[in-house]
Amino acid sequence: MDLLTSPADMRAWSAAASQDGARIGFVPTMGALHDGHLALVDEARRHADVVVVSVFVNPLQFDVRADFDRYPRPIDDDLARCREAGADAVYAPTAAVMYPDGFGTHVEPGRLAEPLEGLHRPGHFRGMATVVTKLLAAVRPDVAVFGQKDAQQLAIVRRLVLDLDLGVDIVAMPTVREADGLAMSSRNRRLTPEDRSAATCLWHGLNAAQTLARAGEQRQDALLGAARTPIDAEPRARLEYLELIDPATFTPIDAGRGNEGLMVVAAWFGEIRLIDNLPLS
Ligand code: AMP
Repeated sequence: MDLLTSPADMRAWSAAASQDGARIGFVPTMGALHDGHLALVDEARRHADVVVVSVFVNPLQFDVRADFDRYPRPIDDDLARCREAGADAVYAPTAAVMYPDGFGTHVEPGRLAEPLEGLHRPGHFRGMATVVTKLLAAVRPDVAVFGQKDAQQLAIVRRLVLDLDLGVDIVAMPTVREADGLAMSSRNRRLTPEDRSAATCLWHGLNAAQTLARAGEQRQDALLGAARTPIDAEPRARLEYLELIDPATFTPIDAGRGNEGLMVVAAWFGEIRLIDNLPLS
C-alpha cells in the first residue's frame, strides 16, 4: 500500500494507475476508521480495480474549533486498517499542504446546503464541498463512494459533481450500524459509557417511524411523533432537529406523503453531536 501526502504525488500515482488501464475507486474520510468506513472500501473495490482512501481532518468544515481539536487522529491504526482492507493507496495530506498561505478559493454549494446541517453548522458544507473538490482533483477517481449516514452531504456531492462537470460516478453506501442500532461514527468513541447507551434512542426513534410507515401510516405528524417518543424519553439526549424531509430537496415533505420521506435527526449527548437518518419506505 502506498502513502501519498501531496496533491502532485497523488496525481502522479493516479496517472500511472490509469495508464495501466486501472479503474480508480475513491473513499474520502476524516480517519478514525471504523467498520462503516471499511464497508465503503469494500464497495469501492466492487466498482474499481484500485482503491484510494483519503484521511484528512478538514479544518474548513468544522464550525466549532473544539470539535476539530478533539477529533480523533489515530493515523497509525488508520493505515493498518486500510492495509488490512486491501486499499492500494492512502492519501493523507497535511492542512498546510491543502491550505497553504494565500489559499482563497471556495466551492459554494446551492440550496441543498441551506437547511438542517447547513442551518446548524454554518460553513460546514462550503468547507466540505471545497475539500471534496480538491480531493477529487488530486485523486482523479472514476468512482467515489460516500455513506448514506451523511445523507445531505451525499446529495450535495452528487449535485456538485453534476454542476461542475467532474465526471465521477458517485456510489452511495447504506449506513453501517452497531449491534444495538447506533450508526457507526468516529465521534462515538468520545461518548461516555452512559451517553453511548443513551444514544441508541436515535435508532429506536427512526426504527419506530419506519415500522409505522411500513404498516401504512402516511401522515407526517404521526410518523414524526413515533420517532420523537423514544428520544424525548431519554433525559441525556438534547434534540437539535428531527424532520421528515423530501430526499430530493431536503425540505419538509408534504403532510400526506410522509411514508416517502427520509427521517433525519441530530442530537447532542454531552458535548458530542450525532446525526442519523432512515428512509421510511
Ligand atoms: P467521515 O470520516 O465521518 O467524514 O466519513 C467518511 C465517509 O464514511 C462518508 O462518506 C460517510 O458518510 C461515511 N460513513 C461514516 N459513517 C458511516 C456508517 N456508519 N456507515 C456508512 N458510511 C459511513
